[in-house]
Amino acid sequence: MEVPPPLVLKRPLYVPSKTLMGPGPSNCSHRVLEAMSNPVLGHMHPECLQIMDEVKEGIKYIFQTLNDATMCISGAGHSGMEAALCNLIEDGDVVLMGITGVWGHRAGDMARRYGAVVHYVEASFGRALSHEEITFAFEAHRPKVFFIAQGDSSTGIIQQNIRELGELCRKYDCFLIVDTVASLGGTEFLMDEWKVDVAYTGSQKSLGGPAGLTPISFSKRALTRIRKRKSKPKVYYFDILLIGQYWGCYGTPRIYHHTISSTLLYGLREALAHFCAVGLKAVVRRHQECSKRLQLGIEELGLEMFVSREDERLPTVNTIKVPFGVDWKKVAEYAMRKYSVEISGGLGPTVEHVFRIGLMGENATVERVDMVLSILNEAIQSSKLGIK
Ligand code: PMP
Repeated sequence: MEVPPPLVLKRPLYVPSKTLMGPGPSNCSHRVLEAMSNPVLGHMHPECLQIMDEVKEGIKYIFQTLNDATMCISGAGHSGMEAALCNLIEDGDVVLMGITGVWGHRAGDMARRYGAVVHYVEASFGRALSHEEITFAFEAHRPKVFFIAQGDSSTGIIQQNIRELGELCRKYDCFLIVDTVASLGGTEFLMDEWKVDVAYTGSQKSLGGPAGLTPISFSKRALTRIRKRKSKPKVYYFDILLIGQYWGCYGTPRIYHHTISSTLLYGLREALAHFCAVGLKAVVRRHQECSKRLQLGIEELGLEMFVSREDERLPTVNTIKVPFGVDWKKVAEYAMRKYSVEISGGLGPTVEHVFRIGLMGENATVERVDMVLSILNEAIQSSKLGIK
């Protein structure tokens, strides 16, 4: 039997233009898209290695770190989670997951696959974790590794006390992993000052780059532990001692570890260049101002934010309660059909309960906030009237 070439691939590629105001990805700028149409380079070509070096400097800036072990994992945000856990965990290690939504659970699932004994400390529904709750869990479990998402995109909750958690982890001789995939750019994050051991972020959210390369950084302390492991990390592809050699992190000759996508590198490089040119503080201010404007608008529409405490609301992914009697799916479909604007529903514990509106990168502007508010209102009203 011969398998014929598929007919669908005879048609031209079709990609509609959409405004991505869900929890990510956000829209890429023209600068980023144009950069990605440059010619492909070999993954060991000096020009490619040079761009990797430039990207590395950009990552150090956005994380505010001087860590040598700063690089990208070739993969989406999940690959950052995997790499953080895979490198730090050895069989039987006790790992504690902070839960403010789905991400701590997902990290727990991964950690167990790497041989960890996993415990959870869970916040009340719609709340961040308090220092007391976490300290209590540290006393009970004495973890080797603690994971927390600074911003949980499923609930729209921000965990503000990372600095205190850095202190706590040092006190208990524990390693602190912080997921900043959804939060970086929307709130302050000072990796070195806060004594964070591993941080990773998403390229496709506030950075406005393409998905597929995940910036990650390991502290000197984490690197020392990894070098002293009794066994190698369980996944070759995530071994940061090897990936770091490819990225030129350790002063040793560059080695081939895998074929990085030069195309994605160009996009990420330009996204970082833009971010750095605007400046971290200005980027954060803009995301926060946009979120405040959205929150005011939500109130004016008679709607309610899901996270009751203002200081626990993530500026980048805003969660809004679905009003009683409204079908969130119809609202999202209306916005997409009529305006090609993405408004998302909930995830995990917030499914059916919330709308998620992302204000990230290109989409964190006053104009986009006003636009999405007006579309949300129209979509809700029309869904109440049963208009298609
Ligand atoms: N962590 C958080 C907090 C996220 O919001 C996401 C993406 N929504 C991820 C991890 C996973 O990222 P990706 O979808 O790029 O794998």
